[in-house]
Amino acid sequence: MSKLDDIVSLCKRRGFIFPGSDVYGGMAGTWDFGPLGVMLKNNLVNTWWSHWVDQRDDMFGIDAAIIMNPTTWEASGHTATFADPLIECNECHSRFRADKLVDGYSESITTEEFKAINPACPNCGKTNWGSIRKFNMMFSTHVGAVLPEDESGSESDKELARRSIAYLRPETAQGIFTNYKNVVDTIYPSVPFGLCQFGKSFRNEISPRDYILRDRECSQFEIEYFVHPNTWAENFETIRKEYLDFLTNKLGLKAENIHELEVPEEDRAFYSKRTIDIMYNYPNGEEELMGIAYRTDYDLSNVAKASGKNMEYRDKNTGETFVPHVIEPSMGLERAILAILSEAYYEDEMDGETRVVLKLPENLAPYKFCVSPLLKNKPELVEKAKAVYAKLKAKYTFVTWDDSGNIGKRYRKQDEIGTPKCVVIDFDTLEDDTVTVRDRDTAEQVRVKIAEL
Ligand SMILES: [Zn+2]
Repeated sequence: MSKLDDIVSLCKRRGFIFPGSDVYGGMAGTWDFGPLGVMLKNNLVNTWWSHWVDQRDDMFGIDAAIIMNPTTWEASGHTATFADPLIECNECHSRFRADKLVDGYSESITTEEFKAINPACPNCGKTNWGSIRKFNMMFSTHVGAVLPEDESGSESDKELARRSIAYLRPETAQGIFTNYKNVVDTIYPSVPFGLCQFGKSFRNEISPRDYILRDRECSQFEIEYFVHPNTWAENFETIRKEYLDFLTNKLGLKAENIHELEVPEEDRAFYSKRTIDIMYNYPNGEEELMGIAYRTDYDLSNVAKASGKNMEYRDKNTGETFVPHVIEPSMGLERAILAILSEAYYEDEMDGETRVVLKLPENLAPYKFCVSPLLKNKPELVEKAKAVYAKLKAKYTFVTWDDSGNIGKRYRKQDEIGTPKCVVIDFDTLEDDTVTVRDRDTAEQVRVKIAEL
């Protein structure tokens, strides 16, 4: 088994991540967070929000609706260009993303380029391909009272059906740009300032794969940092350094597993003067963890054009008016979770057995403490342990109780879910009010007074 297989197996076994709709045979490209996964996810979201919003004076939160006015996606270019190259096998009619069947090509691959290589169909093995078509990845839906028969009905019914089409947002960023003016007009932030959003976005991937790295429904952490056009370069550098610090210090990712990729001009969006992909060394190879892009005034100018509203910012001190430029750091939650799990997953040797341990940073670990009585058939130990549990639960909230199996088995289970400390109540506790505290990473045990926990 590869390390990724080990992580997938641990995540299912311990209730971190389940395949979506598992009981009905699954739903491609969807994953569900189980009880432990939700705790890890919430800890990550809270860590991010606290770091980027609550602890700063220049960042503010936004939580926009998932279904937005379709003009949003016309203005942003998603309706026209948010597409992947789709190719269909003429023999078995399986559909694939063309650039993923050949090495070294991007989404802009042409039918001629594809057919020059002519790879075998992964499904039937034949090499009889159709032409590449652009497949728009936005999920569409109808909003309001539209019946299926409207689409084949009279012209006015068809028009009703057409005008009711809306999309699940393919990115969270547009929910920030569309709220920029409302924020400026209500809380009067001084440039530079950032608007931060965490939430779901949806992409109808042609072939979802790589576990939670490329799923159809995912969550994004996005910041749009609005700056004066003359200061974009230094603001970009500041945000870049701050984000790298965040990845290493708050998410526990090792610097040696993070690699910055300056995206060359020919691969950048036409409006961007600088983009960095921050790559992480995942178990199956290097993959994008997040990106930082300088997007000029491209988005706000598009909103201004499509809405007819003025997006200019007026400097309170100098009176200068300008459309702010934007630095956008954007990170996927699932990509971050897999990086955190990959970094934390270790197998080592303990008491002659292989031990699996998640060395999660304390701020991300689902439980901070596990409390248990040494023996569960001694009422006086159980009673004392319950009192210690109640005390820690009141203080730290994320505390779990375990009196199953023997103490060794309990340690192994807590190691696997990343609990930093196990607290054990034994007969000495009844005498001197001390407990054993065992450390997850070193397995070292120390005696500590209950009052000092
Ligand atoms: Zn085929």
